[in-house]
Amino acid sequence: MNTRIYLSPPHMSGKEIKYVEEAFATNWVAPLGPNVDKFEQELANYLNIKGVAALSSGTSAVHLALILLKVNPEDIVLCSSLTFCGSVNPVVYVGAQPVFIDSEKSTWNMDPELLEKAIKDFIKKGKKPKAIILVHIYGMPAKLDEIKAIAEKYEINLIEDAAEALGSRYKEKSAGTFGKIGILSFNGNKIITTSGGGALLSENIDYVKKAKFYATQAREDFPYYEHTEIGYNYRLSNVLAGIGRGQLEVLNNRISKKRYIHYKYKEELKNFDIFEFQEEPDERFFSNYWLTTILINSNKITNDDLRIAFENENIESRPLWKPMHLQPVFRNCISYTNGVSEKLFKKGLCLPSGTAMNDDDFNRIINVIKRTVKR
Ligand SMILES: *Cc1c(COP(=O)(O)O)cnc(C)c1O
Repeated sequence: MNTRIYLSPPHMSGKEIKYVEEAFATNWVAPLGPNVDKFEQELANYLNIKGVAALSSGTSAVHLALILLKVNPEDIVLCSSLTFCGSVNPVVYVGAQPVFIDSEKSTWNMDPELLEKAIKDFIKKGKKPKAIILVHIYGMPAKLDEIKAIAEKYEINLIEDAAEALGSRYKEKSAGTFGKIGILSFNGNKIITTSGGGALLSENIDYVKKAKFYATQAREDFPYYEHTEIGYNYRLSNVLAGIGRGQLEVLNNRISKKRYIHYKYKEELKNFDIFEFQEEPDERFFSNYWLTTILINSNKITNDDLRIAFENENIESRPLWKPMHLQPVFRNCISYTNGVSEKLFKKGLCLPSGTAMNDDDFNRIINVIKRTVKR
């Protein structure tokens, strides 16, 4: 059997081990230390943002963002429906109600028109939404001008979930730096990884300081453990931050390779009119193309036919995110839909997009696609 090709496996550069060894040599094997501080500084420089708090996951970053923006029980939070559950579950952790907003066709992200409609409806009912959680799905920036204008017009805090979009840009500004608070993930499948980890981003240093406070059990500045608030154990380990520092050094290479993979798929499949790609609508949008995703517009083959054909050749692929408004766990939540994310889920497939992929791997993948289409 051929070796397995994964969707987006971790890709170490070799630079990571130096920082991990430093952590061992200096015995900084703790959820704080020099690697954590430097990783935060280096990320802040890369993104051109004032403050970064390194955390144990992207989900914990979303949770702290909601706490910092004082989202309370019963509050309404407007969320992208086409996303991973990690961007939405924290809304439930704080006792608030997620309301799902469908995608628009061009970026596959939150539809500004539906967003404004939802806001107007809730204001009419005397229940102005407390926050918006905007996702940049598969690395593609959302329609940021439109969404930001709406958030400002109605004075609703914007949280940007850039877990999949590290290195993506909109009008040359980094994804994750547009909202009051942004979040990143360094889970194993993301464009760079710390094996598990995340970050909270803000121009407002007070938010970042407060995030670090909540992430260390809300420990007050006393010689003994004094607590006036409930905290969490959400800091990133100094060992894992070492992995992150090494990964950050190759982030630009990873982005180039992801984009190369995207354009190579497009080139190889350009003669098949049944395939449609998620694409940058115009030059304002720069995607890291974390995953190359296609829609299959055919009544002969489905996304699942192709997934199974890949699986038979030991190649991993995956349907797009199942929209949150279709998830059984959120069946009682309100949603504003237009059919776009449902169609994406029905027709879409994420193609193997690992940055360590070589030409042989790529040819194996393309051959499966061509054979499946022609059969
Ligand atoms: C991965 C991901 C998260 C959660 O990050 P974790 O580090 O796995 O907790 C949140 N939102 C989106 C869109 C993601 O893809």
